[in-house]
Amino acid sequence: MSSFLVSRHRTLPGYVPGTHSEEADVIRLNTNESPYPPSKEVLEAIQEEAARLNYYNDPDCNDLRTALGSRHAVSPEWIMAGNGSDQILQLAFLAFADEQCPIYLPDVTYSYYDLFAALYHIPLVRIPLSEDYSLDPQRYANVPGMIVFPNPNAPTGLAVSREAIRKLAENSPEHVILVDEAYVDFGGETSIPLTREFPNLLVVRTFSKSGSLAGLRLGYCVGNPALIEELGRIRNAMDLYGVNRLAQAAGIAACRNWTYYEKNAERIMASRAYTTEKLRELGFTVLESKGNFVFARPGNCEAETLRKQLMERGLLVRHFAGERTEQYLRITIGTQQEMEHLVAALKDILKA
Ligand code: PMP
Repeated sequence: MSSFLVSRHRTLPGYVPGTHSEEADVIRLNTNESPYPPSKEVLEAIQEEAARLNYYNDPDCNDLRTALGSRHAVSPEWIMAGNGSDQILQLAFLAFADEQCPIYLPDVTYSYYDLFAALYHIPLVRIPLSEDYSLDPQRYANVPGMIVFPNPNAPTGLAVSREAIRKLAENSPEHVILVDEAYVDFGGETSIPLTREFPNLLVVRTFSKSGSLAGLRLGYCVGNPALIEELGRIRNAMDLYGVNRLAQAAGIAACRNWTYYEKNAERIMASRAYTTEKLRELGFTVLESKGNFVFARPGNCEAETLRKQLMERGLLVRHFAGERTEQYLRITIGTQQEMEHLVAALKDILKA
């Protein structure tokens, strides 16, 4: 560490991302990307927009917000776009939590939240999931701080109903409730309609999963215009042109032709059902996932050993250290062919 880093950041931990590989023969089932490419319309829109890259992009993302507004039946003032949903999450942490206003979140959840909180010195209070990893929103009712959880949760894949979130919101008007819907398009129930009733509810979404744009970085949130205006002011102070021209054009084109993405989500859900069934036949315990991944515990071998054995065969899956996660693997749902390849590899490994 250099002597120049200010004391505030000296304890910031590092982040361990999933293994990154660009090898053509590697099957990436470790970062919850979509195995399907962007639509033809999106690729054309990106190409066309590329010719205007000499001009700055619209910092307010007006056309994108209008397109998203039509998709979700809300007006554009209820939406803010960001450079990936990670940026939105970070802005929301900065805007609505601090040393005096902690964040309440599940003990097993998206690990990047920890890093944002560490960066901004926000205390975290972890509310344990039940024994079966389910999340009971009532356990967050009226906590003295901001509430954050993904729905469906990651890496478990378990979802909670909109009605359960409504009940939580009815009981918790004092602080912001952030519902991270990164994986909602794979069978979850969105809370976007509830934002009209609850001025403290913020729903965060991404184009990285069902929208096939992980590498372009595009996310957004939906909430009361007061929250959106405050988040927007902070975003503009940090990263005025954060949502680049190509991302805006791609997002607009994707919204106009969303049925392509709905079909892909259906294919992924069908392959998820196949994968769940085959893993169970192989002795795994598999949680009932509503995400584009499954959280699965092998019957009689160490999860981390199995991850390494799969990696030797060119199959990347994710393992998380920690008491409640170390026995499990998180396996992204790829194409049907990729999942059949995974099942065949597992059969082979487990036979030996
Ligand atoms: N939320 C959750 C729960 C996630 O798993 C991820 C991606 N790993 C994100 C947010 C961030 O997605 P992005 O920044 O690509 O929009």
